[in-house]
Amino acid sequence: MNFKLILSLPILCLGLIWPLTSHAADSFNILLYHHISSTMPRSTSLTSEEFEGHLEYLKINDYNVIDLASAIASIQQGEPLPDKAIVITFDDAWRDIYLQGLPLLKKYDYPFTVFVNTDPVDQNNRHTMTWDMLRDLKQQGVTLANHTRDHDYLVRKPLYDEQWLDATLDNINYAQQRLTDELGPVPKWLAYPFGEYNDQLKLALKNRGYIAFGQQSGGVAEFSDWQALPRFPAAGRYSNLQSLKTKLASQPLPAKYSGFTDPVIRLDEGEQNQPLLHVELTESQRLGVRQQLSCFIVGEQQKPKWQGKMNFTVQANKSLVKGRNRYNCTAPIWGQKNYYWMSHQWLVYGGEAPPKQ
Ligand SMILES: [Zn+2]
Repeated sequence: MNFKLILSLPILCLGLIWPLTSHAADSFNILLYHHISSTMPRSTSLTSEEFEGHLEYLKINDYNVIDLASAIASIQQGEPLPDKAIVITFDDAWRDIYLQGLPLLKKYDYPFTVFVNTDPVDQNNRHTMTWDMLRDLKQQGVTLANHTRDHDYLVRKPLYDEQWLDATLDNINYAQQRLTDELGPVPKWLAYPFGEYNDQLKLALKNRGYIAFGQQSGGVAEFSDWQALPRFPAAGRYSNLQSLKTKLASQPLPAKYSGFTDPVIRLDEGEQNQPLLHVELTESQRLGVRQQLSCFIVGEQQKPKWQGKMNFTVQANKSLVKGRNRYNCTAPIWGQKNYYWMSHQWLVYGGEAPPKQ
């Protein structure tokens, strides 16, 4: 065999592998927790032992738990992230995070972010942290950010008029001001209560310089929708490590997320509740995606319909239930054991009074 050919073989092989492995550094996955408790509602809780199980898994499997600000900055500045980058977030500023979560996160030396509703803190709710606890967290390097003033449903309203938008932005601005007054500067980040938003709110937040987070699953990359960034819920039925492993190792399906259909379906306005989701991929060379992509809607598998190489649609084959629904799509990544992941949350809303939280 030609000596030059022998030398170039490993380089050829590297060339084949490189575009795939390098991709891990272009995105990161965010975990979403609420309670660390054995007594609070199971749907949003996991026990200290389960939580430590997650942290231990991240450690022994060489995940890099990084802080949200540097993860966002790396993507926005086009700089590489560490491989297997994970961000830990908590919503609602429950006191059990301070009592049960903080000691464990310190033990593993993992940074994290807490999204805070300011009214319960101002009202000294016994289940939420106090301002002193939050100040202590901040001093220890924890990032604190906005989860609205009162955790109200932001888009379950009769009308999306100017008055609605003003009141919603007032709610968000009030919380931002309270956080700043009590804690000093905080990032302009909003976690939507219940992960619920609509296109109007996203646009208003974009114009005001906010980055915003939902509760649909998936990873964050340059092509993400920065006013609806996904997070993987990791408590309750999602706390099982077996299923979490796949999500931790997943990469975001490269698509134009900001072009997704408005997520609110208003039954009172006659909108049909088997919404059609158009997805446009941003990279055509994704081997296997077209053949192996499968979607799940309310637990049922649904084949996407392809229109050319870059576009597909997916649609529920029966009516979605009132409240929150998700379309999740995954495809194996060629040459890896991992999956591409994509999710869109829908809110089917009939204009009635919202249920109690
Ligand atoms: Zn919340």
